Amino acid sequence: MTAMASDRIRHVSLSSVTLPLDVPVSDAKVLTGRQQPMTEIAFLFAELCTEDGHGGVGFSYSKRAGGPAQYAHAKEVAENLLGQDPSDIGKVYDTLLWAGASVGRSGVATQALAAIDIALWDLKAKRAGLPLAKLLGSYRDSVRTYNTSGGFLHAPVEEVKERAARSLADGIGGIKIKIGQPDMREDLRRLAAVRDHIGPDTPLMVDANQQWDRVSALRFGRAVEELGLVWIEEPLDAYDAEGHARLAAALDTPIATGEMLSSVAEHVRLIEAGAADILQPDAPRVGGITPFLRLAALADHAGLQLAPHFAMEIHVHLAAAYPREPWVEHFEWLDPLFEERLEIRDGRMLVPSRPGLGVTLSEQCRRWAVDGVEFGKL
Ligand SMILES: [Mg+2]
Repeated sequence: MTAMASDRIRHVSLSSVTLPLDVPVSDAKVLTGRQQPMTEIAFLFAELCTEDGHGGVGFSYSKRAGGPAQYAHAKEVAENLLGQDPSDIGKVYDTLLWAGASVGRSGVATQALAAIDIALWDLKAKRAGLPLAKLLGSYRDSVRTYNTSGGFLHAPVEEVKERAARSLADGIGGIKIKIGQPDMREDLRRLAAVRDHIGPDTPLMVDANQQWDRVSALRFGRAVEELGLVWIEEPLDAYDAEGHARLAAALDTPIATGEMLSSVAEHVRLIEAGAADILQPDAPRVGGITPFLRLAALADHAGLQLAPHFAMEIHVHLAAAYPREPWVEHFEWLDPLFEERLEIRDGRMLVPSRPGLGVTLSEQCRRWAVDGVEFGKL
């Protein structure tokens, strides 16, 4: 069977979905008073359909604020997709960028495009009959995975320990806990308790969510140097590339950062400054898979490790296609949005063998839609 050389997008559907969380979630940004506990996540879904009957789905997301803005911008530019060949992703992406050129090439503007870009990649892989990782060129069939959702700061340490043990029993390969509280001694107590509970050989990471100054970060880093942490994440403000670089040079423990950045250009500053040993880009946040691939190539060229942030449903494919052995972050929060579940075994997340991303939106996901719009004809 040979696919037709070209195809045309005939229908675009956008929906704004609010995912409620089981319990309000707090990291250090809440404990320092900068944010309120998180109770829901806003998703922008894009679904595309072509003349030849191919389909693709992608999503972007926003925590706390920004969801309605992503949806509104996508709605403004989506009509430009009609009639375009979905295989020419770079060209289609440029069309959307120019349609919204005056609001720039980062942040909400490109996060709105991310849902569409990811849907285009999903469609292209499905059209080829390949999982996305295979379309991109995979280095492995599974990726090391660590759990984050069990280690937040609203949970007492006993609960964190229990959930860590459960994650490991479920086949997850590492545990990350949140730190960065106003009293660093409390962080050190929780960290020691978790390390003691999971044993010295289990990969363990910590995440301060940008809540330290340079002096506190260095002090903490020196205090835990002997613990053999896999990394210290976001010790400083996300945009303090120089501070991260100094810390990375001073400590043996690797420094990880990048999840808050919203463009390739912002990541280039980190890479050029030598700010991180492990880069943590987030495809929806940087504007989609197209920009993600550009910065992954730069990260590899600079010799960096990769541990993409959140959205494991997308990142398991992108991590599998990164040359250096990466990590992918496990959160079960998005499970209710999809019919499928990712398989986890022996510390690793398996790349789905289904074509595309390998996700189908659930009925529950559609019931959580708060707004929706369609362009073209089905
Ligand atoms: Mg983080």
